[in-house]
Amino acid sequence: MRLVLIGPPGAGKGTQAAMLSSALGVPHISTGDLFRRHRDLGTPLGREAERYLDAGELVPDAVTVGMVRLRLDEPDARHGFILDGFPRTVPQADGLALLLDESAVKLDAVVEFTAPEDVLVGRLLARGRPDDTEDVVRNRQHVYRRDTAPLLAYYADLLLSVDAVGGAEEIADEVLTRLQAAPQSERRRGR
Ligand code: AMP
Repeated sequence: MRLVLIGPPGAGKGTQAAMLSSALGVPHISTGDLFRRHRDLGTPLGREAERYLDAGELVPDAVTVGMVRLRLDEPDARHGFILDGFPRTVPQADGLALLLDESAVKLDAVVEFTAPEDVLVGRLLARGRPDDTEDVVRNRQHVYRRDTAPLLAYYADLLLSVDAVGGAEEIADEVLTRLQAAPQSERRRGR
């Protein structure tokens, strides 16, 4: 199973990705986690990414796609993955399409998590991560609407939208049920 999870910051993508990863037996790949790990280790990539993370801005597409390429080449990702937080721009989605074409594989679905902005901002401020000051949290919502929301049209024929307000278990169950109910061939019909 090859999935992309899309949703505004605070929608619970990370929690859902972890639950779906264990249910489906494929690795959870979070570009935010990868960037934070590089930053904490002080790698050259981490030093380059740091100012973007601190401002809630997106790391440049070429840097991000290069990092994902390396991660998807690792053996555990050969048979499937859950991408959490990537792609976040149309050029990143084009980059992903090229990577997948090179391996002659396709995405099975793109899952969108939706929630009202006030709920999202409240959740993020409650989480209290060091890069979650109110200005940065609001900026990340703005960046999502500006740069990432266009991906919903880009992936229209693979899209499965799920309400992200509610219990994590129930939401994950709904995603799993709907993945089973709507096989790839059906969602691609009419392309
Ligand atoms: P996240 O944990 O997914 O909210 O990501 C935290 C931060 O990492 C973002 O605010 C960006 O600075 C950076 N980041 C994560 N994923 C991407 C991506 N796909 N493209 C560019 N920057 C990203």
